[in-house]
Amino acid sequence: MNRTILSKMLSIPTAPFAEHRVIEYIKAFCKRRAGVTLKQDQVGNLLVHVRYRNRKVARPVCITAHLDHPGFIAETMISKTRLRAHWRGGVPQQYFVGSKVRFYEGDRVIKGIVHATKSTTQNGKKRVESATINVKESVSAGAIGMWDFPDVAIRGSKIYARDCDDIAGASAMLCAIDELARKKSACDAYFLFTRAEEVGFIGAIAACRLKTIPKKCFVVAMETSSELPNAQMGDGPILRVGDRTSTFTPAATSHCFRIARELARDDSTFQYQRKLMDGGTCESSAYCSLGYEATGLCIALGNYHNVNVKRGKLGPEYVHLKDFDNVVKWFVSLAQAPYPYTGSDQQLSKQINELEKTYKKLLRASVKKPC
Ligand SMILES: [Zn+2]
Repeated sequence: MNRTILSKMLSIPTAPFAEHRVIEYIKAFCKRRAGVTLKQDQVGNLLVHVRYRNRKVARPVCITAHLDHPGFIAETMISKTRLRAHWRGGVPQQYFVGSKVRFYEGDRVIKGIVHATKSTTQNGKKRVESATINVKESVSAGAIGMWDFPDVAIRGSKIYARDCDDIAGASAMLCAIDELARKKSACDAYFLFTRAEEVGFIGAIAACRLKTIPKKCFVVAMETSSELPNAQMGDGPILRVGDRTSTFTPAATSHCFRIARELARDDSTFQYQRKLMDGGTCESSAYCSLGYEATGLCIALGNYHNVNVKRGKLGPEYVHLKDFDNVVKWFVSLAQAPYPYTGSDQQLSKQINELEKTYKKLLRASVKKPC
């Protein structure tokens, strides 16, 4: 697969409430492709509709991913060489002081080192709220700050970047849109790019309230999710039956499961997993709670939120390219909708009916006498 989209997306700076640069890229990307229409809602989420060959699906998929990543927003220079910045997202406080940071000032990068942090307690948990950062030159208010890791790099079968969560997810959606557009495949599907997930999926909540996601859709939220002992990277993208907070709509999960089984049957390189990923809470919980039928897909992530737990320091996040390629195939098939999503698991109902028919008489007859 061509890595241009993924590498480009992973090179764009982003942070919660400062996703504008990724949004610009997606807008330009969609503009260049006929059959792809984009709408931005009042809170900046992007809804993309892809439709070719007049395909009309009664209950189309809406695949979603978020465009932010834990990061800094420059607030104000408190001295000539010291900046105060907001911090948004979940990274434990002990990793901040002494860590290297980069701020994006237009096309230039201004580097700095975290001097101190200020925390608040939220739901009984201590969270960093702001930091003071020693910088070489003045940084403008609003500039995005990220941890200062090297640029995107492919090493072996993995890609390393500052912000795989969830820019890799959003990139997989763009790769699927690109493939549908290049082949003009018969499809009818929606793709939603949300803002401010890292502070509690605020963009996704707004997308439900504003009805940005068409009511007829079922939702598949795409994440990168911390690798677990029973959900390893390289073993295929993962269909999430739930997260730490809730289990998702069974019919939506089984629809994705069926698509995966059929992909695996036809393509020996397609691998997938089906797991409860209970390391965190994802947007699917919000979609389910706010009245949508929803499920989740993810690819396993290394150095979740830039924390290398083993080495006790910050590091770039990484994902397996094979997982990425396979989730793109999964998206393409969901968009093509080879059979309809109905909101009920018809295959399971059929199986149950057949079992009942086969053994109904025997079950009753054997009450009195084994037979
Ligand atoms: Zn995250």
